[in-house]
Amino acid sequence: MSRLYSDVLKGLEPYTPGEQLNDKRYIKLNTNENPYPPSKKVIDSIKEFANSDLRLYPDPKARILTDALSEKYSVEAKNIFIGNGSDEVLAMAFDAFYAKKQVAFPELTYSFYPVYCSLFDIDAVKVKMKDRFAIDKEALLSLDMGKAFANPNAPTGELIEREYIISLLEKNKDDVMLIDEAYMDFADHDESMIPYIRQFDNLLVVRTFSKSYSLAGMRIGYAIGNEELIKGLEMVKNSFNSYPVDRIAQAAGTEAVKDRAYFDDINTRVVKTRKRTAKVLKDMGCAVLPSESNFLLVSFKGYTSLEIYTKFREKGILIRQFRSMKDHVRISIGTDEDMDTLLRYAKEILTK
Ligand code: PMP
Repeated sequence: MSRLYSDVLKGLEPYTPGEQLNDKRYIKLNTNENPYPPSKKVIDSIKEFANSDLRLYPDPKARILTDALSEKYSVEAKNIFIGNGSDEVLAMAFDAFYAKKQVAFPELTYSFYPVYCSLFDIDAVKVKMKDRFAIDKEALLSLDMGKAFANPNAPTGELIEREYIISLLEKNKDDVMLIDEAYMDFADHDESMIPYIRQFDNLLVVRTFSKSYSLAGMRIGYAIGNEELIKGLEMVKNSFNSYPVDRIAQAAGTEAVKDRAYFDDINTRVVKTRKRTAKVLKDMGCAVLPSESNFLLVSFKGYTSLEIYTKFREKGILIRQFRSMKDHVRISIGTDEDMDTLLRYAKEILTK
C-alpha cells in the first residue's frame, strides 16, 4: 500500500467485477448479461451517430434518452437522471443522500453498496438474512435510517412486494429509500416502484440498460424519483463529470427504449429459459433458490462453490463464484443452447 494514498484509499476494499475474458470460446454465464444481441435498430443508430458530431460534447442532460424513458414510464423528464451505467448512478446516489450518515441494507445484496459506504464515509448497517437467503423485512423496517437493496435481490433473485416497500417509505419519510431494480424486467410480477415516485418524495428507483436492454457494453443507467432527488444527483454529477453519457450511448439507449417488441421478445425468452433451467437442475438434485431474475443461485450436492466453478470452467463455461459463499454459485441465464450445454455438463459432474 503506497504511503502516497489518502486515508480513504488505504481503508478501501474495492468491488471485484466478474471475469471478462473476451474469449469467445467460453459460454459466459457469470455477469448476468443478456444472451441476445441488442436490437438491430440500436446497432443501426450506433453506426449513424458515429460521425463528425463526436467532436462536440454530448447533451449533459441526455434529453433524447430522458424523453424516451419519460414516455415509457409516464413520468416527467425532471424525474429522470441518466448516468454512465447504474453503478455510477448508485455511487452518486449514495454520495448525495447517505454521505456521513447511516444506511441499512441486507447483508446479502449487491456487493457494491458497502464499497460506496467506505468511499463516502457512510455508516453501513448490514441486516442479517433470514434462513440464510431471505431479506429480514421486520429487522430492516425496525431501523430508523435510509435503506437500499436490489429488487429482485442479487445474488438471490428474491422479489420483494410493493406493500412492504411502501411501509419502509412511510416509516422513515426523512430518509431516502433506494430500490435498485436492475433485474425487475425479468420478474413474473411487476413490483416496480416507479409508479410511486409522485406519492413518495423519498423514493429513488435505479435501473440499468445492461440486462434487459442487452447493452452492458454501452454503460447506461438511470434513476427515477422526485425532482428534488434528481436535482441532488445532478449536483453530484456536475461536481464530478458533467458529460458522463456519450453521444453514441444516448442514441443507442433511445432506440433500445423505442423498440419495445424486441425488448419483450428477448426478455420473455430469458424468463422461459430460466424456468426450464431451474426445473432441470432441481430434478438433478441441485438446490435452486426461487429467482425472479436472469440468474439462478444454485448449490450442487457434494461440491463446494469453488469446485463446481472450476469444473464448469474446465468445460468452457464461466459462472460466478463468490468468496463469501462456500456452497452456492450464481449462474446467469444464457440462450437455450447455452443452458443445454451447462445442463449436460451438470449431469455429467453429478453422476460421476
Ligand atoms: N445493480 C445490481 C443489483 C447489479 O447486479 C448490477 C450489475 N453488476 C448493477 C446494479 C450495475 O449494472 P450497470 O453498472 O451495468 O448498470
